[in-house]
Amino acid sequence: MSGSSRPRLVMKFGGTSVATVERIKNVALHVKREVDAGYDVAVIVSAMTGKTNELVGWCNEATSLYDQREYDTIVASGEQVTSGLLALVLTSMGIKARSWQGWQVPIETSNAHGSARISGIPSKNLDEGFAAREVAVISGFQGIEPVSQRITTLGRGGSDTSAVAIAGAVGAERCDIYTDVDGVYTTDPRIVPRAQRMDRIAFEEMLEMASLGAKVLQVRSVELAMVHKVKTYVRSSFDDPANPNPGTLICDEEDIMEQQVVTGIAYSKDEAQITLRDVADRPGVAAAIFVPLADANINVDMIVQNISADGASTDMTFTVPQAEFQRAKDVIDKARLTVKCDNVETNMDVAKVSVIGIGMRSHAGVAATCFQALAGRGINIRAITTSEIKISVLIDAVYTELAVRTLHTLYGLDKA
Ligand code: ADP
Ligand code: ASP
Ligand code: MG
Repeated sequence: MSGSSRPRLVMKFGGTSVATVERIKNVALHVKREVDAGYDVAVIVSAMTGKTNELVGWCNEATSLYDQREYDTIVASGEQVTSGLLALVLTSMGIKARSWQGWQVPIETSNAHGSARISGIPSKNLDEGFAAREVAVISGFQGIEPVSQRITTLGRGGSDTSAVAIAGAVGAERCDIYTDVDGVYTTDPRIVPRAQRMDRIAFEEMLEMASLGAKVLQVRSVELAMVHKVKTYVRSSFDDPANPNPGTLICDEEDIMEQQVVTGIAYSKDEAQITLRDVADRPGVAAAIFVPLADANINVDMIVQNISADGASTDMTFTVPQAEFQRAKDVIDKARLTVKCDNVETNMDVAKVSVIGIGMRSHAGVAATCFQALAGRGINIRAITTSEIKISVLIDAVYTELAVRTLHTLYGLDKA
C-alpha cells in the first residue's frame, strides 16, 4: 500500500443509486462519511439505471450484426457521465475528487469485447491520487485491451467486477457494493416480500445464487472476491448516509456459525429450451450436437437425454440463454445435416428455479421434497440438474413466482 498509510476503501454504486443528480448527491454523502472516517476512497459507479439498456437498444437499431468493438465504445459511455457527475458533486462539497475512465486507470482486459475479463490493474495512478488525498471516481464496467487500445466492457452487471478487482489491486480493507436492497436475501425480495436478509453468505453459495439468476452481484465479482480474499459487503445506498446498516458479508464457509441446509432460492427467466426428437441413439451423437454449439461459443446449460426405449432413437433436451437462442437454433439446423432427428421443438416460455445450500452436501432428501412440493402445486418439471450444493428445475415461466414462493416456504426461509 504505497503512497499513504491510510486504510483504503472501495465503494460501488449501482444504476438505481445514481439514477438522478439528486441520488448522486446522496451517494456523495456516503462517500464523505468514509473520507471523514479517514479512508482513501475509490468509488466505482454504474450508468444511470436504464441507460445501458438504451445504449444497447441503439446498437441493435443501427444494425443487427454489429462490431462488438463499437458496441463497447457505445455502451461504456453511460458510466462516463455518472463518474463525471459524482466527481463534480464531491468537489462542490469541498472533497478533492476526479473521474477516471477505464482506459485511464488503466483497467486492462482481454479482447473478448462485450464480456471482457480483467487481466491487470496497475495501481500507480490511483496510488498517486490517494497520496494527494483525492477520491478516485472510476467508471465501472469499462476496460481497455492493451494491444489494440480499444475500449472493452465487462458484461452486463460488470461494475460489481470492476469494484472487486480494484479493491484487490489497491489492497482495500473492504469493498462495499451499494445497491437498492440492503443486502443479499434468501431470494429476490421483490418477488417474495417474506425473504430474509442474511448477515453472511458463503462465497460458494453466493456464486451459485449469482450464476443461477440472482442479479444482485455479477458472477465474476464473486469469483474474484473469493480468489483474492476481498472482504465484500452488499448494502443499501438508500440507508441514512449518517447511519447505514452493514449489509451482507460474502465470506468463507467457516465464518458462518449456523449453516442452514438450504440458504436461498434463485430463478432465471432467461432460458430457452430446445428439444431434438428421435435422434439416433449411438456413440458420437451428443458430440455432433454439442461440439458445434461450443465452437459457436454458446453456453449450454441443462442437458437431458432419455434412455431410448427401442435402442434406436431417443429425445434430447437442452437449454441456452435466450439471447443465444437464434444462434443455437441455426447451429442445430446445420447439425441436422449429419445427425438424423425427426423434429426440433423450441420453447422460450420456460424458467429455471434453483434451490441452493452448502448443507445439501450432508443432507439427503432435499430434491425429493422439492419435487413433491412443486407437484403439490401442479407445476410440471421439464428438466432437472443437480450439483453438490444446488438443485435446478426447468418449469413453465408462468409458474416462476409460485414455485419460488412455494420452495421458500418449504425450506423454512420465510420471515416470521
Ligand atoms: P445495481 O443496479 O445496484 O447493480 P441490480 O439491479 O444489479 O442493482 O441488483 C440488485 C437487485 O437484485 C435487487 O433490486 C433485487 O431485486 C435483485 N435480487 C435478486 N435476487 C436477490 C437476492 N437474493 N438478494 C438481494 N437482491 C436480489
Ligand atoms: N451499466 C452496466 C449494466 O447495466 C454495468 C453495471 O451497471 O454494472 O449492465
Ligand atoms: Mg448490478
